[in-house]
Amino acid sequence: MDVQSQINSLRDELREHNYNYYVNDNPTISDFEFDKKLEQLKSIEAAHPEFYDATSPSVRVGGEITKNFNTVKHINRMYSLDNSYSIEDLQDWETRIKKIVDGDIQYTCELKYDGASISLHYENGKFVQAVTRGDGNQGDDVTANVRTIKSVPLQLKGDDIPAKFEIRGEIVLPWDGFHKMNEERAAQGLELYRNPRNTASGSLKLQDSAVVATRPLDCLLYQLAGDDLPVKNQYDSLTLARKWGFKAPKESKLLNSIEEVFEFINHWDTARKDLPYETDGVVVKVNSLRQQEELGFTAKAPKWAMAYKFAAEQVSTRLEEITYQVGRTGSITPVANLEPVEISGTTVRRASLHNADQIEKLDIRVGDEVYVEKGGEIIPKIVAVDLAKRPADSVPTVYATKCPECETTLVRKEGDAKHYCPNEMSCPPQVKGRIEHFISRKAMDIDGIGAETVGQLVEAGLITNYADLYDLTVEQVLPLERMAQKSAENMVQGIEASKNVPFERVLFALGIRYVGETVAKKLAKHYKNIDALLALPDEPLKENLDLFADTTGASDKKIEELTAVPEIGISIAQSIVEFIQSEDQMRLVHRLKEAGLQFALSEEQLEGQTDRLSGKSFVISGVFEMSRNDLKKLVEDNGGKISSSISSKTDYLIRGDKMGPSKLEKAEKLGVTMISQQEFLAML
Ligand code: AMP
Ligand code: ZN
Repeated sequence: MDVQSQINSLRDELREHNYNYYVNDNPTISDFEFDKKLEQLKSIEAAHPEFYDATSPSVRVGGEITKNFNTVKHINRMYSLDNSYSIEDLQDWETRIKKIVDGDIQYTCELKYDGASISLHYENGKFVQAVTRGDGNQGDDVTANVRTIKSVPLQLKGDDIPAKFEIRGEIVLPWDGFHKMNEERAAQGLELYRNPRNTASGSLKLQDSAVVATRPLDCLLYQLAGDDLPVKNQYDSLTLARKWGFKAPKESKLLNSIEEVFEFINHWDTARKDLPYETDGVVVKVNSLRQQEELGFTAKAPKWAMAYKFAAEQVSTRLEEITYQVGRTGSITPVANLEPVEISGTTVRRASLHNADQIEKLDIRVGDEVYVEKGGEIIPKIVAVDLAKRPADSVPTVYATKCPECETTLVRKEGDAKHYCPNEMSCPPQVKGRIEHFISRKAMDIDGIGAETVGQLVEAGLITNYADLYDLTVEQVLPLERMAQKSAENMVQGIEASKNVPFERVLFALGIRYVGETVAKKLAKHYKNIDALLALPDEPLKENLDLFADTTGASDKKIEELTAVPEIGISIAQSIVEFIQSEDQMRLVHRLKEAGLQFALSEEQLEGQTDRLSGKSFVISGVFEMSRNDLKKLVEDNGGKISSSISSKTDYLIRGDKMGPSKLEKAEKLGVTMISQQEFLAML
């Protein structure tokens, strides 16, 4: 046998053993024999570097060092999941989706594995890249580390493999391995790892892949992504993935009704305790990919999937003190300081109390014995008080009246759950918080400044608001502690570069209460520039700031105008009007404009946008020549509104092939105008 064939045959053999051991849990040779063969392969490969292959089983031992994890944009966005906590929640979900899709719905139920989300990329059957979820739009390239995880196939089996695709799943650390790691930590007198999930995601970010290789990580896969996949439903895609060599958990099941889903949930609520890894719920997915496509996504999650969270563990402990935290926008959050207590393996010292109503509703008092629960959220919450244990001298909680940071009297607007500190311009956490928000990645994304630098700049009196950033000079910041010439220059350059950040992100960066990323996008698209957004009706925006006095009538009109914009509600509208009425805020906007920030959509963004369909509501149903997303975008770019179900408010139904009979019937009954893709395009 020549060297090449010898290497190939060893690789094939080891691959198969790897698969039997790590994916199938069914080894056919002893560890000793496996190691001997692996050593043999390694020594031949070492003597013949010309046959190097990144998918050889020998690369599992790691060795590659990653200094900086590159940020990678996801080709297909990695969504999160909507949560439900009861059978009723799931029934409501089914009612909602049944209004949108036609025909019977089958569900694939899977367990919700608690680990680190990962997307694996394959090209021509070979593993090429692994990316963490990150913020869903972009994540970190952790390829070198993931390659060392034995159940991740580096070379797929079978023939019908798409040339290019992604598969999503979860990197988990099974309990066994977790306990073993902790035994070693304990033996070395080191602090123990808190829980398997954090340890798994921490492992992915280690610089030395050889260390990752020693960690008993596992990878469970549950979702294919890509174009033209050879499957029509979720369940088949799991079967296919399994055939290709992936570890697609066998617990998943195809079910015919929501009642069967409830049974599945009931079963696993207890049975999951015997699984080798942590699970925190069940994921219910609409099985048919066609129906999935019809349902689409919200801003954060697919509408075709729903996570059901198992009831979280509860413990009781004593409430020692209530303190108040001031957020970036001045919102006050009461915090329960607890006698430390263990819940699901972590020590809990604090819990959120949400707001004054919550405290009043549960009648939570200092000194009480309270029940604490840690659900999906990172911050645990108080769910009840043990009244039997209430001390005799206990007194009802009186909510704070003054800001703990700046002593300003707190305000609470009608309809608002939270109290606010109105001292936006000089309450320290608000000052710092707003600047931190302004420079953050999704806002102005200013390189060269972090939260710590913001603190330094504010404390040194160099800035008191975000507009001040644009006046900073290298000479001014150099005297700051730990600030070198290079970092000072980077910072000033970063600020300068932010002048090119597009309008919608600038709008988000302003930190107007309730104007998050999605709302900012909607507003930018609708108003196209800041003057239109901030102008009060009948009264164009005045550069002369004294003229903001009499605005009562105008502000009502503005609220009306804003709420007419799709998806802008009354709270958002009120908050924007308040922003307009604040001279301080307007002065900042004015200064940012002078500094040269983008306060209008660019020509490029405006291209292809018209008001031709303004005021018209569309429903899209069926299969089309062009993609549904492109169709939707065309409607929206031309000012139309998309809704998911037919009602008397629907103006047009764009009708594709294979449209369901019930939708057709409804459209006919309501007399909705039906048009084809061609007719729609002609309208434009
Ligand atoms: P959340 O982080 O609570 O929004 O839940 C979404 C996350 O659940 C996803 O990003 C996945 O990492 C994870 N997950 C675990 N098991 C599954 C599953 N079977 N299907 C989809 N997502 C899952
Ligand atoms: Zn304050």
